[in-house]
Amino acid sequence: MTGDDIATILIVDDRDENVLALEVMLSLPGVEIVTARSGREALRLILKQEFAVILLDVLMPTMDGFETARLIRMREASKRIPIIFLTAGPELDLVSEAYAAGAVDFLVKPLNPEIVKAKVAVFVELYRMTRQIRRQEEALRLAERQRGEAALKESDALYEASFNAAPVGIAHTSFEGRWLRVNPRFCQILGYSPEACLQLGFRDVTHPEDLAEEIAGFAELIAGKIGTYHREKRYLHKLGHTVWLDLTGSLVYDHAGKAKHFIAVIEDVTDRRRTDERQRLLAGTGQILLRSLDHRVTIEDVARLVTASLCDWCIIATVDRTAESGYHLAVAHADHRMGTPVLELGRRLLDSPAFCRSLGSDCAEMLTDLGTRAADAWHLDDGTAGLLQKLGCGSTLVVPLAFREEVLGQIMLVSGHSGRRLGAIELATAQELAQRIAMGVEHGRLYHEAQEAIRVRDEFLSIASHELRTPLTPLQIHFQRLLGPRRNEAQVTPELQRILERCERQVHRLQALIDNLLDVSRISSGRLRLQTETVDLAEIVREVSGRFAEELAAAECQLVLASLTSVVGQWDRLRLEQVVTNVLGNAIKYGGGKPIEITVDETREGGRLRIADHGIGIDSADLDRIFQRFQRAVSSRSYGGMGLGLYITRQIIDAHCGSIQVESNLGAGSVFVVQLPRQTPALARMDSGPHRAASA
Ligand code: ADP
Repeated sequence: MTGDDIATILIVDDRDENVLALEVMLSLPGVEIVTARSGREALRLILKQEFAVILLDVLMPTMDGFETARLIRMREASKRIPIIFLTAGPELDLVSEAYAAGAVDFLVKPLNPEIVKAKVAVFVELYRMTRQIRRQEEALRLAERQRGEAALKESDALYEASFNAAPVGIAHTSFEGRWLRVNPRFCQILGYSPEACLQLGFRDVTHPEDLAEEIAGFAELIAGKIGTYHREKRYLHKLGHTVWLDLTGSLVYDHAGKAKHFIAVIEDVTDRRRTDERQRLLAGTGQILLRSLDHRVTIEDVARLVTASLCDWCIIATVDRTAESGYHLAVAHADHRMGTPVLELGRRLLDSPAFCRSLGSDCAEMLTDLGTRAADAWHLDDGTAGLLQKLGCGSTLVVPLAFREEVLGQIMLVSGHSGRRLGAIELATAQELAQRIAMGVEHGRLYHEAQEAIRVRDEFLSIASHELRTPLTPLQIHFQRLLGPRRNEAQVTPELQRILERCERQVHRLQALIDNLLDVSRISSGRLRLQTETVDLAEIVREVSGRFAEELAAAECQLVLASLTSVVGQWDRLRLEQVVTNVLGNAIKYGGGKPIEITVDETREGGRLRIADHGIGIDSADLDRIFQRFQRAVSSRSYGGMGLGLYITRQIIDAHCGSIQVESNLGAGSVFVVQLPRQTPALARMDSGPHRAASA
């Protein structure tokens, strides 16, 4: 039996013999007896120790058993101890009073030892069982508590380990915004030590432009409007640069459901943002440069885009032979009010021979302070140096615009007063950017060279055709004199006449060829104008067809003027004659001697001319091309020609606001259809003059 199983019985009786008798009766194993001679003494003892049962004599001097029992019941510690009254006789009054005082049983004197033992044993056993149950309960509670504590410890350790090793930054933040606890990654992202972090809060490091939204987000969390707050925002690193973060904020509650603090989880997304920005910048630059082949038109927009995403201000100098300095300047500043000072600085730099020499360098450079470079290498005057200081000349990237070994300029990106750092990543971006700009500059240059070459060619064409035409006019006059009505005066024999006529035809051909060249140069310079009058299309066809009589006969080709409906419109007679001449001439040239049909009919809008042959035809792949300058679909060895007839034809028809279409099958022949509206718009009717004289 353990000490815990000992049950103590309190015997309260003023008479020693009664006490002794009871002690003898109750000397049971596992039972300890404590005695008291009065109610008061009993109460004192009860205060000190625990009892399994109290045997209380009813009749005692000063404080009787009932009084004592009532006082025992009043005390919290003793109110549940079973009380057995010892009475002289079982009077009914006494019994009811005893129960009222809290008795659980009675023993009537003289006491029967067996009854006493049996009754007390019941309470002793009850006491022991109660103790045992209580002990078991306690053991259970303890085990539970220990398990709970172990689980708590384990989860604390797990949180601690996750908190410390997390690849994301975590901060516990007070409602005032101060950091209460931060993990190592959080400190690393911001560059502060853990101790320094605990002296700060999110307000101290949030980018000024993001602060209002951040505060509003936290307020919404507190107000319970949102469960979590999530956005990309900027913090300022201890070294001053901006760090882009993906932030998720939420509230942490205690076991009673009361909000304790915020928890913020941050991920450094600066690199991703940079990559995105770089892609956007490069794609944007490409798009801007595509807008025009002349990079001088677009480069300013490129400078603005670069400044918006990479630096505070920049200068792009590109070679420009038309500029006095040899360079075109494009500048931009993040603060648009500073655009003019940057331009002024650019101009002053171009005045410095040392700076211009440096523009030819093919080395990219990363400078920590542009001011030092300017002072050492460019020998700037005080005014220019001052301007540089005003704009801010922190870390700088100087990147050549190189294309195929050739340096076409330079881009200078400068971090001014913002303190943003231009490092290796920005240099790589700037180099890629420089490549694109250089390619744009080179394309522009090639385009200009091509334009220039075309201009020179057209000028040559114009001069050459004029020069070639000049001796032809007197030559024709001579032929007219020799073959005219007064030919007898020149004593032209029939033999000589035939030779002269052949020569005259060749002069005509030569003149037509030169006229074509002249027309091309007029079209290129926009000088082809119409002189409209009331003209009948059918009449023009008849007229031109007549001129081809000899040629048709020589080609043994039949011309069928099947249906020539008279259609009158406001057209340029000579130009329409030229159209019919070109298309009919081609039909004879490429018609293989087979019949040619011409029809003219009236449409709702005006007139339609259709010239069909059954000759060599045209490959469908060439149908569009043949209307362009110098384009031919036959070899020059088989067929002579310059590839200008259809080009001029289309220009004339376009000027009349009409259309020309061709349908053709190789080997089966071609059909050219010209449609003309009755009226030609006023602008196209304007006469430019010079070509009249030439083609008259
Ligand atoms: P050219 O006849 O001097 O070459 P054109 O501009 O009149 O120049 O015609 C361009 C090209 O179109 C010709 O070289 C020829 O290949 C093709 N072409 C024009 N008319 C016909 C036709 N009736 N049949 C076949 N090919 C034709």
